[in-house]
Amino acid sequence: MSRLLSRSHFRHTPLDTCHFVGIDEKGKEFVMPKYDIYVSCPECHGEHPMGIGIHLDDGPDEKRSIGDSYQGKSLPPQVSAIQGHKCLCLKTGKEFRQEDNEQVFLVPTWALPRRPMPPV
Ligand SMILES: [Zn+2]
Repeated sequence: MSRLLSRSHFRHTPLDTCHFVGIDEKGKEFVMPKYDIYVSCPECHGEHPMGIGIHLDDGPDEKRSIGDSYQGKSLPPQVSAIQGHKCLCLKTGKEFRQEDNEQVFLVPTWALPRRPMPPV
């Protein structure tokens, strides 16, 4: 175990701050990129954050819709869990559900502009 935690094991990448880094059961380091979910809004035709972040190990490198990212593949459980999730339109104050996978977007957190994160 001490070998795994030795100084030489650490690697610094620009993604350090937004990746969940761990060591799997085989002692190999792995990273889980984090994604924010954005939904296009039928009320104001804008786009709103769903306020949910998920970790995906096979997600897209840039903002992409769920339908596009997983075309012909089965959705990871984290993604199916947010399907049909209630969203709030920040402009009209109306709640809506976006059922169309082409209108729900995975946005890598490292692609977002840096800003202070609100406390969870
Ligand atoms: Zn809206």
